[in-house]
Amino acid sequence: MSEPAKQEYLVGVDLGGTKILAGVFTSNLKLVGTAKLSTKANRGPSAVIDRIARCVQDAVDECDLDLKQVRAVGVGAPGSIDPEAGKVIFSPNMPGWENIPLKKELEKRLELPTFVENDCNVCTLGVYEAELEAKPKHVIGIFVGTGIGGGLILDGKLFSGYNLTAGEVGHMVLEVNGPKCGCGNKGCFEALASRTAIFRRIQTAIKDGQKTVLTDMLGQNLDDLRSGDLRKAIRRGDKFVEKVIEEAAEYIGIAVGNLINIINPEVIVLGGGVLDALEDEMMAIIVETARDYAMPGTAKGIEIIASKLGDEAGITGGAVLARRMLKAQPKN
Ligand SMILES: [Zn+2]
Repeated sequence: MSEPAKQEYLVGVDLGGTKILAGVFTSNLKLVGTAKLSTKANRGPSAVIDRIARCVQDAVDECDLDLKQVRAVGVGAPGSIDPEAGKVIFSPNMPGWENIPLKKELEKRLELPTFVENDCNVCTLGVYEAELEAKPKHVIGIFVGTGIGGGLILDGKLFSGYNLTAGEVGHMVLEVNGPKCGCGNKGCFEALASRTAIFRRIQTAIKDGQKTVLTDMLGQNLDDLRSGDLRKAIRRGDKFVEKVIEEAAEYIGIAVGNLINIINPEVIVLGGGVLDALEDEMMAIIVETARDYAMPGTAKGIEIIASKLGDEAGITGGAVLARRMLKAQPKN
């Protein structure tokens, strides 16, 4: 690897319930190296924070760099985050994560300025800086994976809301008597269109005797079912899977229509594992449904697009967060 001696690097971290991804970026957001570790969330916060620090070290080492060449670290963490204090207030899928001072603990371990934000906010930042060249003023990011999360950028800045929970698009209720959601409500967007919701619908139908090529591909229990398998099934002509995905895409479109009515952003970007795998199958339905549900005139000129960042949205956003926070800090 070449030796840009005084280059200042940023590290972005995507902390998930099952894996930690770290990426080293130049100050112009060029990705130069990555590392991945399993989270081992069951070992508790302190062990996980050790693993985040190790993952950052590994990524830096992978690029033949030294931690001293890194200016700052930005972390996207799941759950409710206090970005100013750098605390994880609560994280539903990680045992023991209540009021954990993640920023402070990582700064202790890495001796680098570290910033923490909600993971979907961070992904939205990543998409905004790396993909939207026109730098629109108002952007909404929606990420459809195991759950559904989102981020709002208003006037070019992340919008956190009064209790720092803004952007929880996944818990917008779309069916009052719909399926139960992890949050306790019924019929949330997440309970209707996330990967978990899609898989549940498919598994229930199979138990009720539904025929699908998925069982030929993966066996009756579909233990290793992934979003990519749904795409393969549709391409093999499976009308049942196609219908389930069409329905999920319609719900996503309804959610987008609602958001256009309420926020009226210039751009809505969709990402996450489900969209990454099924963009060709879903996007046209999402756009058409969203325009149907938006009030007359409100959707005019609004772009509804799919992110191309895939798995890199979180680490890219982490680097963007680090860069933005460094800029915002008073120089001493
Ligand atoms: Zn919910």
